[in-house]
Amino acid sequence: MEFQNSNKKKKENKSRKIKMLRVPAAPVWFRARPRAPLPIRSPPTRASTAAMESESAASTGGRGEARAAKRVVVCGGGVIGACTAYFLAKNGAAQVTVVEKSAVACAASGKAGGFLALDWCDGGPLSALARASFHLHRSLSLLLDGPNAYGYRPLDTLSVPLLPAGSSSATAAAGASPLLPTWVDGGTARPPRTLGTVETTAQVHPQLFTRTLLAAAAAEHGVEVVIGEAERVEVEGGRAVAVVLKEGGRAIAADAVVLALGPWSDRFPLVSSLFNVSGRKAHSIVLRPKDPAAITPHALFLSYQPSPGSKLLDPEVYPRPTGEVYICGMSKDCEVPDDPEQIVGEREAIRMLHKVADSLSSHLKDGEAEVAAEQACFLPCTDDGLPVIGAIPGVEGCFVATGHSCWGILNGPATGASLAELILDGRSTTVDLKPFSPSRFLRKRANQR
Ligand SMILES: Cc1cc2nc3c(=O)[nH]c(=O)nc-3n(C[C@H](O)[C@H](O)[C@H](O)COP(=O)(O)OP(=O)(O)OC[C@H]3O[C@@H](n4cnc5c(N)ncnc54)[C@H](O)[C@@H]3O)c2cc1C
Repeated sequence: MEFQNSNKKKKENKSRKIKMLRVPAAPVWFRARPRAPLPIRSPPTRASTAAMESESAASTGGRGEARAAKRVVVCGGGVIGACTAYFLAKNGAAQVTVVEKSAVACAASGKAGGFLALDWCDGGPLSALARASFHLHRSLSLLLDGPNAYGYRPLDTLSVPLLPAGSSSATAAAGASPLLPTWVDGGTARPPRTLGTVETTAQVHPQLFTRTLLAAAAAEHGVEVVIGEAERVEVEGGRAVAVVLKEGGRAIAADAVVLALGPWSDRFPLVSSLFNVSGRKAHSIVLRPKDPAAITPHALFLSYQPSPGSKLLDPEVYPRPTGEVYICGMSKDCEVPDDPEQIVGEREAIRMLHKVADSLSSHLKDGEAEVAAEQACFLPCTDDGLPVIGAIPGVEGCFVATGHSCWGILNGPATGASLAELILDGRSTTVDLKPFSPSRFLRKRANQR
């Protein structure tokens, strides 16, 4: 049996998807900021843990299954594919091959902010994944020289309201606030609020992180990266046996296949027959100020009104240890182009991000900072807002990891570590993957009947 990678099903689903896309009620562009006080997570009871384990093990052939050396093909060279390949190889997979259509980290995983938070997902299903990932980021950075290799650093995080330029109250009292970094000197900032400290928030350069991880996996564990488009998963006798590439029809034999294709995941009918993945386009600019030493390590979550009475926007600002300042925001739902290299920013959205930079700091004004990038990429989103990580029901040896929305850089490590355990050992111990199981969509469908 063959499963073709095609857009047909996606187009059929499009009208349905548009109705189901999440429209934020509040003027938040995509990331929920922590509430105060943060809800406290209650540990699962022994009974609920046992129930979760039995379901998780059953979907992969039983927890008693001995670890077998496996050849695994991971489709997608974004942060999720890279983390999965890294932990598979580290945990003893016989051979790991990553198939990437364009270039490693060419899409959202190379153009994201790279912001990491320990507890912003507390109180929800992502809590354990986020906490485990935050800690794994810290240990990976020790192992892989994160501060030098990919700009890993803990940093303080502030919420900063900006008044519209020229508004009568724009002579804000923020200058008097000791919390406000000195480089936020645009005159429109109001007193900030602390959202995170060096204990609870950190950052990486996402493209360098993804590439460093894969380079280490290649150097230390022989992971192979193949540049080519995965066209289909070859299934024989109900088992995934190979990934077939579009160019030349080369088949790469596999004992297990992982589909980690971000917003392109449901181009594979194996995925689209089970659930939808939609793309939310978001924009970013990268600036190189003339005096990078003036920019302190503070991540800023802004509330910004471009003019009095206009819609409130929520751009995010991440100074990087490379001397660059990354600013993102301006998101909207739209169709994901086939080719990641064809994704370009829209002029109006990019113009607005430059306007934010101008209002924020004299160091980021037009003429004061070199423009290093103006770009866009797609958040991979699912209908229930949760990532999908686990075995695809009905096809032995086929796994999926997608739908990480605005937290893929944070949640990559625990996703990769847990999925590697599930594939190699039949159960995950780093994080319980049951809340993210693809089979939840089968259950939902059965309940709707
Ligand atoms: C503006 C913006 C800012 C963000 N900021 C943050 C942040 O600060 N912190 C955070 O945690 N998250 C952030 N995110 C979210 C994060 O970037 C994503 O969740 C994450 O990158 C998704 O990774 P992925 O590997 O699933 O997908 P992608 O990065 O999209 O990777 C998928 C890969 O699959 C490849 N591919 C597609 N089709 C094929 C095929 N047929 N064969 C082979 N390869 C194929 C693509 O070329 C691509 O490289 C941000 C996202 C955006 C858009």
